[in-house]
Amino acid sequence: MANPSLQANSIVVEFSGLRALDNVDLTLNRREILGLIGPNGSGKTTLINVLTGQVTPVSGTVLCDGEDIGALLPRQRALRGIMRSFQTVRLFGNLTVAENIEVAAIAKGSSRRQARSGVDRLLEEFSLTDYRSELASSLNYGDERRVEIARALVADPKYLLLDEPAAGMNEEESGMLMQILKRLPEERDLGIVIIDHDMPLIMRLCHRLQAIAQGKTIGEGGVDEVRRLPAVIEAYLGADALEAENHA
Ligand code: ADP
Ligand code: MG
Repeated sequence: MANPSLQANSIVVEFSGLRALDNVDLTLNRREILGLIGPNGSGKTTLINVLTGQVTPVSGTVLCDGEDIGALLPRQRALRGIMRSFQTVRLFGNLTVAENIEVAAIAKGSSRRQARSGVDRLLEEFSLTDYRSELASSLNYGDERRVEIARALVADPKYLLLDEPAAGMNEEESGMLMQILKRLPEERDLGIVIIDHDMPLIMRLCHRLQAIAQGKTIGEGGVDEVRRLPAVIEAYLGADALEAENHA
């Protein structure tokens, strides 16, 4: 495969008659970070749910490295290398940091020894080595979320989908997370989709942006280009912001 990617084509999703996604496409390449932006309720989480198989579209296809995976269950897609984080933390509080990650490695079929070495590398990569023997329940919020992402990576995914990973973090915590995320695509031949509302953060991190509003893509391309699109400014910040921008 010349250019491996995770692709959604012409996705339509309806929830009891309401059209949450209306003919949306998305392409995520390896070694890139794609920012998915848009107002609350625009369909961002739903699009991630379609990629992972948590939501079944009315129509449209999902391809992983060229193969149609639309009929696969979420856990089957995880085995193909598509991993996600959730908007809420889901760690085992009564296990240590290292154990939380190890359990995930063993669940995907690693031997105990393989799991250990994968865990060591991740703890290091995520600046968590000092916490390896701490109970997950004792961690502060930012550390806990980093463990959650480290755990998603232990299965060596090819595509990582992050739904507001920095929500609730303070500036130091989110800065630290962004530094880690920035390195991952090259280091791990990984493609990342990240949803976040913090525009300065998204702009520092992402190679490409896709903006959606009311279930439709309203702009995509380079970070600077998309950020300046009037439709994006208006959808994101309201017509007043567009007015202000025009007079700036
Ligand atoms: P975003 O992540 O951009 O805030 P969502 O994808 O969560 O938006 O939601 C898009 C729209 O679909 C919203 O109107 C939301 O209320 C609706 N929606 C999302 N999930 C469900 C669901 N499981 N059942 C019914 N409606 C849903
Ligand atoms: Mg959401």
